[in-house]
Amino acid sequence: MLIDSHAHLDSERYADDRAAMLSRAFEAGVSTVLAIGIGEHASGMDGALAVCRQFNGLPGMPRLYASAGVYPHNTHEIDTAVLSKLDHLLAEPEVIACGEIGLDYYHEGAPHNIQREGLIKQLEIAAARKRPILIHCRPTGDGAGGVMDAWDDLLLVLEEHWRPTGLGGIMHCFGAGWEQARRSLDLGFLISFAGNLTYPKAQPLRDVAARLPLDSVLVETDAPWLAPAPDRGKRNEPAWVVRTAQTLAALLGVEEAEIASATTKNFQGLFSLGADVGN
Ligand SMILES: [Zn+2]
Repeated sequence: MLIDSHAHLDSERYADDRAAMLSRAFEAGVSTVLAIGIGEHASGMDGALAVCRQFNGLPGMPRLYASAGVYPHNTHEIDTAVLSKLDHLLAEPEVIACGEIGLDYYHEGAPHNIQREGLIKQLEIAAARKRPILIHCRPTGDGAGGVMDAWDDLLLVLEEHWRPTGLGGIMHCFGAGWEQARRSLDLGFLISFAGNLTYPKAQPLRDVAARLPLDSVLVETDAPWLAPAPDRGKRNEPAWVVRTAQTLAALLGVEEAEIASATTKNFQGLFSLGADVGN
């Protein structure tokens, strides 16, 4: 059984078939999904918890957990009410992570200093609530020409404000190089791969993945985005995490069952969940 460590289950794009989509995931062998609570705006960061509460306990469905956080390009919306809402959400037992938070210099949006300030404020709340964090990081030009500006800034912030907590987290939809992967592992993070690992031009990323130890990796969909090959561009869904897991298994030279058990164990360990994590 697999865990999809990152899916936007509250997306509008599942409005018509959310229950069927979750059933398909369970049928495909997905025992657990971490639903990401960022909403369209900071005010919607409770959306993932609402989905959890709607479906948990129903038969034939994956076990759902939720996160809550303010996405980098919504950090200009942060005020005391938003921070208080985040704090209350992280106190809920189903909300096991703070995210996705981080730095995005790829898209035009919130100024970089506002993103950094917003990230640091959220780290303080996550630390107090003892919740691991889910990191989104995209450098200018998506790293073209080796530009890793957002990563350089992110790793400095995490070294100073997060390492001392010992709580760790997940580098979601990892897309950087070996240096960033190595420093992430050193910070106690897991590296999560999404459908882009399967894309034809992603050989440099596959080369990084192939060097990682089995106890450091996770798989995710980032659904509804980043559908794996050959469905790139279509609406993604958690059932398709199987294909990313197959790609990762081949890269690490292990059976698919071993990737499933390793990623499940890694997820359980990070969030201190019992072995009954899934359905
Ligand atoms: Zn995401």
